[in-house]
Amino acid sequence: MTLPEPVETIEAPLKMEYTYVAGVGRSVYLHGMARKAFLARRCPRCRMVYFPAPEQCARCLAPLDEPFELPGTGEIDTFCVVNFPFPGQLYKPPYVVAHINLHGTGTRLMHRIMEIDPADVALGQEVEPVWVADDALEPSLASVRYFRPRDPALRVPLPEEDSADA
Ligand SMILES: [Zn+2]
Repeated sequence: MTLPEPVETIEAPLKMEYTYVAGVGRSVYLHGMARKAFLARRCPRCRMVYFPAPEQCARCLAPLDEPFELPGTGEIDTFCVVNFPFPGQLYKPPYVVAHINLHGTGTRLMHRIMEIDPADVALGQEVEPVWVADDALEPSLASVRYFRPRDPALRVPLPEEDSADA
């Protein structure tokens, strides 16, 4: 017996509302995002620096120190190039998603890498944030549109569909 053609998608309307409770710790980072600041916190006991920071150290449970501002730059720790289209996708492939070691922290942040040919993205590459317009800033990581190479020589213009929401 031959197998039938696969069912690729079905309509399944689903609405889900949920409330994210940021808590005191994560609120620091969220307020920072609304004013273009990467606010981190350090553990006074083990010196681990968190961004975003919880209220207490995940390793030794000590309450974290007062927030301080990071430069927001970092290095690509790992990345993948998304080449396949899939339903519900926010961006047109190919695009790059990376884990970024923000300078000054011991934690990684996941974000898009833009303004670069995906073939030129490399481990250890230094990147910097590109923010949304000032009137679009909000207490969310969405205030950072994407990261781009710090080296201007690596940068290429954004594709048309990504320039539109600048
Ligand atoms: Zn600690």
